Amino acid sequence: MRFGFEHSYAALPARLHTRVAPTSVAAPQLVVYNAPLAEDLGLRLAGAEAAAIFSGNTPPEDADLLAMAYAGHQFGVFVPSLGDGRAVLLGELRGRDGILRDVQLKGSGRTPFSRNGDGRAALGPMLREYLLSEAMHALGIPTTRSLAVVATGERVYREEPLPGAVLTRVAQSHIRVGTFQYFAARGDQEAVRALLDYVIARHYPDLREAAVPALALLSAVTQRQAALIAEWLRVGFIHGVMNTDNMSVAGETIDYGPCAFMDHYDPRTVFSSIDHGGRYAYANQAVIAQWNLARLAETLLPFIDADEARAVQQAREVLDPFVADVDGHFLTGMRRRLGFSTARPEDAALVRQLLDVLQRAQADWTLTLRALADVAASPDAAPTGELPGELGPWLQAWRARLAEDPLTPAERARGMRALSPAYIPRNHRVQAALDAAEAGDYQPFHTLLSVVQRPYDEQPDRRAYRCPPRPEERVLQTFCGT
Ligand code: AMP
Ligand code: MG
Repeated sequence: MRFGFEHSYAALPARLHTRVAPTSVAAPQLVVYNAPLAEDLGLRLAGAEAAAIFSGNTPPEDADLLAMAYAGHQFGVFVPSLGDGRAVLLGELRGRDGILRDVQLKGSGRTPFSRNGDGRAALGPMLREYLLSEAMHALGIPTTRSLAVVATGERVYREEPLPGAVLTRVAQSHIRVGTFQYFAARGDQEAVRALLDYVIARHYPDLREAAVPALALLSAVTQRQAALIAEWLRVGFIHGVMNTDNMSVAGETIDYGPCAFMDHYDPRTVFSSIDHGGRYAYANQAVIAQWNLARLAETLLPFIDADEARAVQQAREVLDPFVADVDGHFLTGMRRRLGFSTARPEDAALVRQLLDVLQRAQADWTLTLRALADVAASPDAAPTGELPGELGPWLQAWRARLAEDPLTPAERARGMRALSPAYIPRNHRVQAALDAAEAGDYQPFHTLLSVVQRPYDEQPDRRAYRCPPRPEERVLQTFCGT
């Protein structure tokens, strides 16, 4: 079987990667397959064929299997050598949209970057990545995609034995901030230059003619990240492990480990079991992304200006407005979610007041914003029971603002619902689906997946999936699963 792969990354200097084959598994069984995504990539496979290929047992003949080198700051501490310790790139496919995408197996066995790891992945975390990445895609947020999960028929040993699996991930590329760091830390300017040229050619072709390509790239990556983080904030997404090796230079959400969606609004929310200091809390994500981008900037300084002080100054000018830019994107989104078709200076205060009330009332982020659309649709009806009582005075101010806005109620509600999802993959639902899958029942996973693939639709027969957890259903911690 041939996929029609291209191999642009494999063609880069040999020290950027290591050729390595997947380790075959005992009894591959296809658990979930993303047929629409496969079709977008020009693939058409039968079930048994897909299991053999996406387990790594029989890679496509035209794959050029390799593990990528990268480094990274993990919780602020630099680790000079990470790399694909349990993943292999098969090659790149050009989708229907003309964009080249990596196809990578994750959990496919040991590589020269595995250190003490087994190179494997457990079924639960791989299904979690599938579910959350496809939910993010359906929400309209740039992300890596998931093409398949294959159960291996083998156990992996974490704190306990768990069923193993391989995920096939599709990404605009797997080049991370940490990829640049790997070579910069070794003083290998030639490799950084090769990466720089490659990333511009692949992800930012418009910058080829820029006066200072490295600076233009830093600026473009920064802009994509600002938009991305604002999108995470919009839907209450908490990445959980924003290490520099988990930040894509293409601007996609990548590496779904302990990530989770917030239920009740609290900017301090942290789910990850390993994030003790709250470094990656919901409201810290903009500052952390900026910190990560500063690490990228450091690797690019020699290409920005031969005079280091001047290079630093120029990089600063690019990075300084980052947090304000995220806030700006967030405010623009909030205006639309509140049904305003125009921008007024006092809107920022109105949004701030809303956030304050929601935090005090521990109101559900997703439900509240969606319910406001219902109120806007029928301005004369009493406010819905999904809104916290404490919101009364704020609702009055909001209605006064709406009264001066030209949109009709129907137009307004449509616009609001287009940005305020009804369905997110809530932690307690995700956990229940993964627990069932581990016990051999995949139905809850498939049902939840189908719900979160249509996040903005009403889905009247699925209303229970909108609900936040009851106190006893709350999932307070999530785990990396590595
Ligand atoms: P992550 O926490 O998934 O971002 O992974 C951080 C680093 O640990 C990467 O270099 C991974 O390749 C590596 N890693 C994670 N889990 C394993 C594993 N089971 N075996 C080998 N390497 C792993
Ligand atoms: Mg990672």
